[in-house]
Amino acid sequence: MLAAIAISLGLVAALTVSLPFARRPTHGTEIILPAYAAATFILEIITAALLFSLFNAQRTRALLLLAAGYLFSALTVPTWALSFPGVFDGLGIDLGLQTTAVLASMRRLGFPLFILAYALSPLCGQAKGPPGRAIGISILGVCLAVASMTGLVLANYTRLPAFMLDGRQVNALWFHVPSLAMGLYGLDIVLLLYRRRALLDIWVCLVLFSLVIELLLISYLGGAIRFSVGWWTGRIYGLIAASLILLVLLSETTRLHARLMQTIAAERRIRQNRLIAMEALSASIAHEINQPLASMVTNADAALRWLARQEPRIDNAEAALRRIVDDGHRANKVVAGIRATFSKGTQERAALKLNTVVSDALRTAAPEAGHWGIALELDLDPTLPPVIGNAVQLLHVLRNLVENAIDAVKSGGERPRHIRVTTRAEAMGEVRVSVEDNGSGIPRAIADRLFDPFVSTKPGGMGMGLMFCRSVIEAHGGRISVESRDPRGAIFHFTLPAAIVSAVEPVPFDVSAQVNR
Ligand code: ADP
Repeated sequence: MLAAIAISLGLVAALTVSLPFARRPTHGTEIILPAYAAATFILEIITAALLFSLFNAQRTRALLLLAAGYLFSALTVPTWALSFPGVFDGLGIDLGLQTTAVLASMRRLGFPLFILAYALSPLCGQAKGPPGRAIGISILGVCLAVASMTGLVLANYTRLPAFMLDGRQVNALWFHVPSLAMGLYGLDIVLLLYRRRALLDIWVCLVLFSLVIELLLISYLGGAIRFSVGWWTGRIYGLIAASLILLVLLSETTRLHARLMQTIAAERRIRQNRLIAMEALSASIAHEINQPLASMVTNADAALRWLARQEPRIDNAEAALRRIVDDGHRANKVVAGIRATFSKGTQERAALKLNTVVSDALRTAAPEAGHWGIALELDLDPTLPPVIGNAVQLLHVLRNLVENAIDAVKSGGERPRHIRVTTRAEAMGEVRVSVEDNGSGIPRAIADRLFDPFVSTKPGGMGMGLMFCRSVIEAHGGRISVESRDPRGAIFHFTLPAAIVSAVEPVPFDVSAQVNR
């Protein structure tokens, strides 16, 4: 977001610098036009190809429309360039005075219409059928549309509206085109900013913003004269617009690749940790289950004894049976907890709102915090972008961190006791969650081994919680760290990469129910 704002300010600054020279004509620069057209065509075609392949993976209709928009824009460029008066005369091409301007208006008005469809289409809306077929149909549809529209223009090139006075100057009639196109660009920008579905929308807005500046320079500030300094400066803005999404997609691909490598390493570590953890885990399961089992046997014996008396004590026997039921539930919870942490179902990932997961974690921790007189504070960033992740695992991470904070605060003795959970959207497309407490602080002896397995200072503690947190966060492509808080207490931070293209789908299940099962 910050990068997008900085680029738009840069674009406006460059516009201001170029203004005093905008109307100055240039001579002999027509020969650059084919190179400019080729660059625009290649940039837009590659962007369309990348967007189509992204659609192949994500299958959201909106991406298909955006890809089709870029393809449309790219396919109109070659004929536009070939028809330019005076540029390809040597090849014997003469398509009259008006053809170039009419083809330009087709491109100017067509592209924002595709963007309008993209903006109105839900980012979660999945295209039906196999993606290959949808891509094929879109490419064919766009090619046919461009071919028939261009064919119509070329067949009637002597009867086209008089947009141009001569090879360089426009007529008054032309000004309807840029004003209509800028209206459409503006409408698209407002819609995209209003809906703010994904980071990609911000970059599309920036593309439209550059196109607005391009049109301003070409049709107004450059004196509406072809090949003036303003006209060429406008073309540079056109090139920036054509390359922006391509650059974003390429940098996202590189980032994804780096994250994938990180995730593979983290998963390898998880597997190793799992093996080490098995032994301790089985000991802990035995301990956790043995306790209720032993208590069940004792209570069953007691109930039998109460019933075997000459005058059976039904009330006491009933109380013992109730304790058996409670112990049964306790054992069941232990098993469900272990299953939720290590089961296969926790591998599924979807775009999710981290703020919701944080609120869920605090809601489940609230009764215990209340019992110890600890105030739980929530400071959520409403502009937090979605992340791709597993809601159940991330909920476990947050519950671990909050439960540790409760343990630290209740043993800290300080009053008022509080725990604050903060979410923030960071630069570089990351989100950060911090869990801060004013408890006992990190024990110095274990400070640099905190995230290792079996490190615990609690009586009966397994020391697996923070290891689990680190495994999950790193497997999500994020980082987790801790720092001591002044004057006392600790802050655990973790960052996760924000989802750039996906929007949030409604969470398909009640996250807390999954954990408490
Ligand atoms: P466990 O909770 O079973 O001890 P964890 O891996 O969750 O295992 O935590 C390891 C240790 O880290 C804890 O025993 C405690 O000493 C320390 N720790 C964790 N969170 C905090 C915190 N918020 N404040 C102080 N110490 C903490």
